[in-house]
Amino acid sequence: MNGTERLYETDAYLTRCEATVLSARKLTGEDHTESGCSLELILDKTVFFPEGGGQSCDIGWICSAGNDGGHRSGMLAVTDVQIKDGVIRHTVSCPEDNCGLFLPGEQVLLQINWERRFGFMQNHTGEHILSGLMHNRYGFDNIGFHLSDNSVTLDVNGQLSEEEILLLEWEANEVIYRNLPVKVSYPDSEKLGEISYRSKIEIEGQVRLVTIPEVDVCACCATHVGMTGEIGLIKIVKTLRFNGGMRLFIACGRRAFALMQKRQQRIEEVSHLTNRSQDEIGDGVKHLLDEIGELKQKNRDLEYKAAFLRLETIPKDQKNVFLFVGDMDNIVQRNLVNKLCEEHDGFCGVFAGSDKEGRYRYIIGSRQMDSRDVQKALREKLGAKGGGKPEMIQGSVTGTESCIAEVLP
Ligand SMILES: [Zn+2]
Repeated sequence: MNGTERLYETDAYLTRCEATVLSARKLTGEDHTESGCSLELILDKTVFFPEGGGQSCDIGWICSAGNDGGHRSGMLAVTDVQIKDGVIRHTVSCPEDNCGLFLPGEQVLLQINWERRFGFMQNHTGEHILSGLMHNRYGFDNIGFHLSDNSVTLDVNGQLSEEEILLLEWEANEVIYRNLPVKVSYPDSEKLGEISYRSKIEIEGQVRLVTIPEVDVCACCATHVGMTGEIGLIKIVKTLRFNGGMRLFIACGRRAFALMQKRQQRIEEVSHLTNRSQDEIGDGVKHLLDEIGELKQKNRDLEYKAAFLRLETIPKDQKNVFLFVGDMDNIVQRNLVNKLCEEHDGFCGVFAGSDKEGRYRYIIGSRQMDSRDVQKALREKLGAKGGGKPEMIQGSVTGTESCIAEVLP
């Protein structure tokens, strides 16, 4: 079978074309994804970019043109495009009664989802600019790339400081303002030997070079914008240390703009909530956190006082003491158990929680006995989870105060 002519390689702006069906196959079993029927079509040419090189495939529509020139099917969705064994395969979601229309020899019209594709072009060229700049300045190589509807990531084998990342982002956007051409070329092997370009290893056969003058030369099969100005905006959203290098989460073009709009709204929300200007929200949040810290400490102090007052009401000769309290700070709870253990010989425990929640966190200790015996009983009767040493255990248990009290010694 002859290969499919890849129109997207020579003109990334071609959104539609006519083509002839070379083969059609109903997908069954594992390949059959949706209700109705899925067809796999191989065509003599296509505008659809198949998934590859880290980039998701194009999606779009197809309709059968019919031999008489009339459109015999409605627009059907092209949901997936893959390249297997060098052959591009289009998956078409097809109502049962339309399956027979896509026979070999049939004329079809293809149209890609241009808005989505253009977004991919903006992001892919944006990635080349960032990778090219990092390669030129720091000698980093791009070792991974992923471009889909939800995210764009690129991995490099080196790390940059926060300031260097800001500088990189700044320079990448300068490349946009310069509105440089993005050129595609197919140099012969002799010429290729004289050119220094990225991604040398991945390519077999004819090498397709994507060149942004003074910024980047890279072997790449994907679709790119014609001029860097079309990217509009390049934003490095987040960076992570990754595999000894760095993973950059980026957003370019409309995607970056939409993200900045959303972030601006979030900032405004926080500004409103903290009653600070947008530039001062960091201080506003810090102020709130400090206040929360102080209140927590005050609350802890009060819990201490209340708890120790309660201890005074317990007869000194009582052997086992178990207290049920409301929500209590873990440190207060532990100190309370320690204090009880000093004054009582048996098991001393504090259960923090409520019957309404139906769950208690407990700490149980003993000076002379093995606290794990109580743990065992709670686990066997009520399925409690926890553990510890003979002198102290802790865990949590589901049940009401009266249920739990029945199990306790
Ligand atoms: Zn590329």
